[in-house]
Amino acid sequence: MADHCNGSSHTSESFANIPPIKFTKLFINGNFVDSVSGKTFEAIDPRTGEAITRVSKGDKEDVDLAVKAARFAFDNGPWPRLSGSERGRILMKLADLIEENIEEIASLDAINGGKLFSLCKLIDIPNASMALRFYAGAADKIHGTVLKLSKGLHGYTLREPIGVVGAIIPWNFPTIMFFMKVAPALAAGCTIVVKPAEQTPLSALYYAHLAKLAGVPDGVLNVVNGYGETAGAAISSHMDIDKVSFTGSTEVGRKIMVAAATSNLKPVSLELGGKSPLLIFDDADVDEAANIAFNGTFFNKGEICVASSRIYVQEGIYDKIVDKLVEKAKALVVGDPFDPQVNQGPQADKKQFEKILSYIEHGKREGATLLTGGKHIGQKGYYIQPTIFADVKDDMIIAKNEIFGPVMSLMKFKTMEEGIKRANNTAYGLAAGIITKDLNVANTVSRSVRAGVVWINCYTVFDMDCPYGGYKMSGFGRDYGLDALNQYLQIKSVVTPIHDSPWH
Ligand code: NAD
Repeated sequence: MADHCNGSSHTSESFANIPPIKFTKLFINGNFVDSVSGKTFEAIDPRTGEAITRVSKGDKEDVDLAVKAARFAFDNGPWPRLSGSERGRILMKLADLIEENIEEIASLDAINGGKLFSLCKLIDIPNASMALRFYAGAADKIHGTVLKLSKGLHGYTLREPIGVVGAIIPWNFPTIMFFMKVAPALAAGCTIVVKPAEQTPLSALYYAHLAKLAGVPDGVLNVVNGYGETAGAAISSHMDIDKVSFTGSTEVGRKIMVAAATSNLKPVSLELGGKSPLLIFDDADVDEAANIAFNGTFFNKGEICVASSRIYVQEGIYDKIVDKLVEKAKALVVGDPFDPQVNQGPQADKKQFEKILSYIEHGKREGATLLTGGKHIGQKGYYIQPTIFADVKDDMIIAKNEIFGPVMSLMKFKTMEEGIKRANNTAYGLAAGIITKDLNVANTVSRSVRAGVVWINCYTVFDMDCPYGGYKMSGFGRDYGLDALNQYLQIKSVVTPIHDSPWH
């Protein structure tokens, strides 16, 4: 049971009946194997900072083996040659297996990522099976077009799988990120090597095991855990990988693009950081707006790329919104992610924990008003109070840099034009939100904000059919939707003369 302290709460009791960890090796060519070096690294429990288990540590040699297996499976194996509906059937089966094992998988992301066990079951894992079913359903609808060529020519396009994909993913949604890449890539007929984040290596291995049970052939899906500078860099610079799909920080995204450019010029798609604005207009319902803004910032302990980390509130409603948000932050229960009464678990790792606390210190030093929170909780683990700053100026570090934690910055604005200008005053362009009853305002702002997704009267709403991705330094390319499937396909034009057609 959580006990309250300073408006937030923290518990050290263990609520989890956590199943033993079954898979800790690399998954290459359909088998769990040790790394070539035999080295391992610790998977950490952010509730305590202590090790849960040790996991095989992949490096360049292991990436080479995984790429070799994926290359062989692509060039010679059945997967790209199956009909779309046959691939779809296997992906559907994988979705079923995931649902059958939901408790065990949810416990892996909760113990390793500090994510709420209840939300893993409610959101993350259902999202994975939805992605698999969405792309499974699309797999037999991949087709080209008939071209309208000059007289005497017949032509059409083929959409072919791009080849061997390298996927490098972050730790904040280990399950969702894995299937955001794997589901469309496999549906397209590609083979793939995934490098999960070093902070959250566990659930990906469980998915590799289930994929094998579902009938995904050997070599089609490979998982190489390891560090970014070694295993990740080996993927982005690999000469035999045909495409890299990356989700992570803007800084690393830049390195990946350089590595791709200086190796085999493979195409990359980059889903990067954000500093997303949410504009609340005077006509908004206070309770509803506060709920949307609060969840937009504090969902998943603020470790979400699209977090509404800049909240602009129109001056007429500002004070009421601020009061509501502070009330909600004080009521939020922070503690063990397995405790059903808890709303916010620990931050994912020590580095992230320290980074967030240092941003909070920046906010105080720069003169923003700390309304609530601002401290870590307890002596063990990576718990941080939900924190709200008011009177934030656009040029403060906390308004410009991505914090990726439970920290909200509140700013006041007067007119719609001012709101739009300040919303766009950022290097990023991942997401934006608008809360208003005025359709003209909603339409004008949504067309004026430079961001890959705009939510009107809602926030952090995801759907399989809706493409997500960035403008500006939030990257390029899209995940989800049919746009994501197209990123794993090549277009080939086929042209032939027709000499005897009466329709010349
Ligand atoms: P990160 O960029 O440090 O790491 C992401 C992945 O890249 C990890 O697997 C890591 O091992 C790997 N990596 C690190 N250095 C590498 C290198 N030199 N070469 C190849 N791979 C390397 O990011 P993070 O701290 O794990 O995640 C947080 C960041 O991810 C935030 O900036 C957040 O906004 C972003 N993110 C974006 C989205 C999105 O959809 N746009 C979603 C989630 C997270």
